[in-house]
Amino acid sequence: MTPIVSKLPNTGTSIFTVLSALANKVGAINLSQGFPDFETPTILVDLVKNALSNGNNQYAPMAGVLTLREQIAIKTEALYGSVYNPETEITVTAGGTQAIFTAITAFINQNDEVIIFEPAYDCYAPAIKLAGGIVKSLELEPPDYRIPWDMVKKLTNNKTRMIILNSPHNPTATILNKKDIEELSAIVRNQEILILSDEVYEHLIYDGQVHHSIALYPELHQRSLIISSFGKTLHATGWKVGYCIGPECLMGEFRKVHQFLVFSVNTPIQYAIADYLKDENTYLGLSAFFQEKRDFFRDGLAETRFELLPSAGTYFQMVTYKNISDEGDYDFAIRLTEKIGVAAIPVSSFYSKGTDHRVLRFCFAKKKETLEKAIEKLIKV
Ligand code: GLN
Repeated sequence: MTPIVSKLPNTGTSIFTVLSALANKVGAINLSQGFPDFETPTILVDLVKNALSNGNNQYAPMAGVLTLREQIAIKTEALYGSVYNPETEITVTAGGTQAIFTAITAFINQNDEVIIFEPAYDCYAPAIKLAGGIVKSLELEPPDYRIPWDMVKKLTNNKTRMIILNSPHNPTATILNKKDIEELSAIVRNQEILILSDEVYEHLIYDGQVHHSIALYPELHQRSLIISSFGKTLHATGWKVGYCIGPECLMGEFRKVHQFLVFSVNTPIQYAIADYLKDENTYLGLSAFFQEKRDFFRDGLAETRFELLPSAGTYFQMVTYKNISDEGDYDFAIRLTEKIGVAAIPVSSFYSKGTDHRVLRFCFAKKKETLEKAIEKLIKV
């Protein structure tokens, strides 16, 4: 047998897959992997059915169905005042993860350094390593998980090729503010550093705050790629459709990789989403919709021995269990799933060194009954 040299020797199965499988096996309420347990809007499902029956079943253009790219351009300009050309600066992808992998593959060369902030979403580091890049991670600390920009500045040098941002942030549910972006701008000014901004939770932001998309900042335009995801915006994570926007000079390189990674994304769903997005209320109402769920879940958790961390955006709520147990977060999460019947994600999985602050992440994108049942169980812990 030919010996196989793993390109990712320290990578196992993703924690989301592990916890969802365990929750299914033991019949636990699954608040681990982030996805809604309620239905995708009927109007949207009907639009997909129409698109399927109307013969939209062959390859879409490589960059995505044009009407969908046009809707993305309209939405981006309306929300962030930034104009992207649908022909040359917008590409529809098979979800956010593919867009992130494509962007990293397109721009990271051997030994290029990429700065990421931990806890970090699990797909960043493997993609950087597969491209031959070097992961430079900076650990953020609870309870605020703010980015220490002075440390970022120290970490940058002439090998730094990219900084990956994520706001609203998975798993910490924090958001970047104007000052953060100003600090970032000062660091990258006159440097050859690209910004990859993972904004898949852009429409899930609470308490009247605004999302500081990189698209709001003209100074950063030429060096930035922004990723979003319809899975989160349309309650349809299983459809795996997202997109990447960026200036033509970057998008050309992005598409060179995209065309050989997936070529193009499934056609009927793109037509349906394009129609659906014509009504902006479909996504502008999301903050209110999820804020109600967040508040309901937080009120319930306040009755338990878990301690709440802030949740400013995303559909995640972090808690510490320091007052409950000294166990490591992975063991605690497994026990909570198996013995109490509620699955959560141990946040140490988002740190390359496995840093354990005794914090769990719950997903509250669930029906009220589901959250209620989970609280009933968590009160017993
Ligand atoms: N984005 C989802 C989460 O954070 C997981 C998606 C996946 O399983 N890869 O829970």
